[in-house]
Amino acid sequence: MGSLGHETTPLQVAIVGTGIAGLTAAIALRQHPNINVVLYEKATELKEIGASITLGPNGLRTLERLGLQDCITDQVAYRGPNPISRIYRHWKTNEIIGEDFYENVSEPLHYTARFHRGHLQQALLKHIPRDTIHLKKKLVSVTVHPVDGVQMTFQDGTTATTDLLIGADGIASGVRKSFAPDFKLEWSGHTAFRGIFPASLVAPIAGVPLDSTHWWGPDTNFFATRLARDLFTVQGGIYADPNDPVAIAKFRDGGRWDREADVELLREKYVDWNPVVQNLANTCPDIRYYPNYFCGSSLPTWIFGLGRVTLIGDAAHAHGGAFATGGSLAIDDAYALYLAILEVYPVTETGRRLGREGVERALRLYESTRRPHAVRLLKVVHANNEMKTRKILAETRETDEELRARAKAGSGTTWLHEHDVVKAFEEVVRAERERGKGVSEVTAR
Ligand SMILES: Cc1cc2nc3c(=O)[nH]c(=O)nc-3n(C[C@H](O)[C@H](O)[C@H](O)COP(=O)(O)OP(=O)(O)OC[C@H]3O[C@@H](n4cnc5c(N)ncnc54)[C@H](O)[C@@H]3O)c2cc1C
Repeated sequence: MGSLGHETTPLQVAIVGTGIAGLTAAIALRQHPNINVVLYEKATELKEIGASITLGPNGLRTLERLGLQDCITDQVAYRGPNPISRIYRHWKTNEIIGEDFYENVSEPLHYTARFHRGHLQQALLKHIPRDTIHLKKKLVSVTVHPVDGVQMTFQDGTTATTDLLIGADGIASGVRKSFAPDFKLEWSGHTAFRGIFPASLVAPIAGVPLDSTHWWGPDTNFFATRLARDLFTVQGGIYADPNDPVAIAKFRDGGRWDREADVELLREKYVDWNPVVQNLANTCPDIRYYPNYFCGSSLPTWIFGLGRVTLIGDAAHAHGGAFATGGSLAIDDAYALYLAILEVYPVTETGRRLGREGVERALRLYESTRRPHAVRLLKVVHANNEMKTRKILAETRETDEELRARAKAGSGTTWLHEHDVVKAFEEVVRAERERGKGVSEVTAR
């Protein structure tokens, strides 16, 4: 049974999902002496699945604030020699045609870093006792009772109860499904092919940059980077009309996520690109499909179940992997939620009872800090997806001049990658206090 009605008993927090969002939230909340965290995960084991994942200065700063330096050092992550956030090269000539520079990042540990997702997950897992994680627990439904709390039901028929449920269960969130059953994910038409292999394989290729590099072409891109532990990864991709039945059958449905794909798909796609890209595509021994570019619209609220349930990470904002910002967003969501809980339940006041209203107030602070940021991102993502589809349907190809101008302008995403979650949270708290002051002044008159 939940503990909201019982003085000084720890606040029970259940986190569904042990991805980047769930693990970060668990590490943060476990720092509070009167919070008890339990994690539920549908996977049967925590294997190193996935390919590369990028963390920007925002997510890296947040992990450092949580004391997780060991998760972001060069033993786990790769940073190129140049302090440049993103480097864009021309698909045919290989010359640098654009760069995203940092605006407010001087600490090398905060420079954009590329991880094998499995390495990052394993590094975070070292900060969480294994007995707090329950595997083989696929959440299938949630019910909320005003007194007893939140009841979770899992696919194996078992149930568990908690005071606060955090849905960190990714893009196809089961928690979200329980409260927003009409929410739909739409395929953007983009399918990535990714391969990871030993970095020694690229040693014979002339001209492979040491910096992580995006090559931009008129209809698709190619990305390559070294990873920690002497690994190398490449990512290519195909854009299709998301309503085209052939593309749906071949890529959306046929190319299931993380399924092995024919490496010729990659090699053929880049056959007329510059020799460095061609050689990287030819050297990559195998690839997997990542048709994970599914997007959803903005949820009108992130607070459910009588103020006892919320969402973080991809569960809260299905932005389809755009701008490689999903990992950092997930980390910042988790941290904002932690700050919000600390605000209403400071570690010095654990002797007092935290009522349902307190939990709900924390969720409101969290939602006000993070939802507007996610809404802004989703608007950009949907507009970009629509533009790409329009171009595919009109069969218009970007001219070389347009491509160069686009790269020169850069991605325009400093607002995302350098977003300061603490500043955003403090502004929300200040606004709440101002509103409270206004109310008490009116009451006093
Ligand atoms: C196995 C895996 C590999 C990935 N690899 C990459 C990658 O290589 N590159 C990249 O950019 N992004 C990858 N992603 C996505 C990326 O991790 C996220 O976009 C981002 O980090 C946000 O993380 P998240 O914690 O919100 O979601 P996720 O990382 O997707 O984590 C969600 C977690 O919830 C679990 N889960 C889902 N549904 C349920 C349920 N009903 N009950 C219980 N548990 C549930 C999942 O098994 C998963 O562990 C991967 C995701 C997964 C799950």
